[in-house]
Amino acid sequence: MDGFVRVPVREQDAKERATNFKEVCLGYNKEEAENEATRCLNCKNPKCVQGCPVSIDIPAFIQQVKEGDVEGAYQTISKSSALPAVCGRVCPQESQCEGQCVRGIKGDPVSIGKLERYVADTAREMGIKPAGATEKKNKKVAVIGSGPSGLTCAGDLAKMGYDVTIFEALHEAGGVLVYGIPEFRLPKDAVVKKEIENVKSLGVKLETDVVIGKSVTIDDLMAKEGFEAVFVGSGAGLPRFMNIPGEQAMGVFSANEFLTRSNLMKAFDENSRTPIMRPKKCVVVGGGNVAMDAARTALRLGAEVHVVYRRGEEELPARKEEVGHAKEEGIIFDLLTNPVEIHADENGWVTGITCIRMELGEPDESGRRSPVEVPGSEFDIECDAVIMSLGTSPNPLISSTTKGLEINRRKCIVAEEATGQTSKEGVFAGGDAVTGAATVILAMGAGKAAAKGIDEYLSNK
Ligand SMILES: Cc1cc2nc3c(=O)[nH]c(=O)nc-3n(C[C@H](O)[C@H](O)[C@H](O)COP(=O)(O)OP(=O)(O)OC[C@H]3O[C@@H](n4cnc5c(N)ncnc54)[C@H](O)[C@@H]3O)c2cc1C
Repeated sequence: MDGFVRVPVREQDAKERATNFKEVCLGYNKEEAENEATRCLNCKNPKCVQGCPVSIDIPAFIQQVKEGDVEGAYQTISKSSALPAVCGRVCPQESQCEGQCVRGIKGDPVSIGKLERYVADTAREMGIKPAGATEKKNKKVAVIGSGPSGLTCAGDLAKMGYDVTIFEALHEAGGVLVYGIPEFRLPKDAVVKKEIENVKSLGVKLETDVVIGKSVTIDDLMAKEGFEAVFVGSGAGLPRFMNIPGEQAMGVFSANEFLTRSNLMKAFDENSRTPIMRPKKCVVVGGGNVAMDAARTALRLGAEVHVVYRRGEEELPARKEEVGHAKEEGIIFDLLTNPVEIHADENGWVTGITCIRMELGEPDESGRRSPVEVPGSEFDIECDAVIMSLGTSPNPLISSTTKGLEINRRKCIVAEEATGQTSKEGVFAGGDAVTGAATVILAMGAGKAAAKGIDEYLSNK
């Protein structure tokens, strides 16, 4: 039926892509994008905008795509988002903008994410940059962390005219965008680095290899280095483990370590000096986006990969698109299954994992049915590597070295949602450091809110 079905997006063939690290999704070309754009009904009360945590004027940019005005579309998006090529690739649009699209009631919602990606990629190829500040304010703001929350907060403050410096602990900027999400979903040189360059083009300064709390503290930045406000966007990079017997064996990794070696340190590339284990048979424990990324990375390194998850298919927290891609590529899903023990040989290397079957019981606090062990259902999976992907929490370094910065029992910084204001005057926070592990766009939304909060604070100071 005309208009009810979205223009399909081209992808690398599943068999071929399972052996390489090139991007899976190939995106729309001009003709495809303009065709898809004609499906937008340009609603008077656009629900898609309400579904977007950074409130992009979606109908306006899609109208501009329809008219072939990519530059206009890019400027419309970049008023609200510093990272459109990133968001067009990794945002869970199905539960945000596209989840609200009226077209979705009787057919496919408009492919808003793929159109955003088309605009950002085409604008980049055309050398179009976001518009910067017209007037400078003589006030210094420090941003800690260069992930999506920090980049967004820094970009928005620079557009308002503030003198902004980002301090990043790692040698490269981008946070999870460079060390977590794999190249085959989010190319680093072609996409992430270019969007970071755009943020820098607004006047934002970037200092890498600076660990706040070790190299210098927040209190020092404010008392000695003239920063009048600080935004903390330090993420949630501390991995959790299961605490089961054998978890200390060699060949057991956190998903963060495995992905950092592969993505940031380019260990998958034969010319890289960073080593990575190339497992023959690998078990990935967990069912979120991070687990899918770890599994698909291990697959590309040559392993047979099993994803072990304690709930069922319906409860998998990863995006449906990612689960679909993983299945197409040959990842095996062992659902309603939970590890109980990891086994190792006499040299301490992993040889296998004992799991137990689960069934779903009564709903827990999260509303999801809780998994319950089926007695006597233990079984073994032989493997030479186990990757734990059970979630992460914020690193306590910043909270433990900043006087008066309140954290909650999950070790997250306590901050007001609307402004990012923390318990310490002049210090604002947002993203995963406040919410715990969440999404790129929520981190960006928090960075935006904090930029407004900082502007209000400094304007009244
Ligand atoms: C593997 C993986 C895949 C994911 N896939 C998706 C996806 O598909 N879609 C999606 O929406 N979300 C996804 N997420 C989640 C998303 O990436 C995060 O929610 C988001 O990056 C959080 O942004 P942030 O700015 O709060 O923190 P981060 O991106 O974690 O950035 C924090 C930065 O702060 C730096 N830092 C930390 N401590 C200090 C310090 N003391 N001093 C200086 N710098 C410091 C860190 O080095 C890091 O660069 C994924 C996460 C992972 C790990």
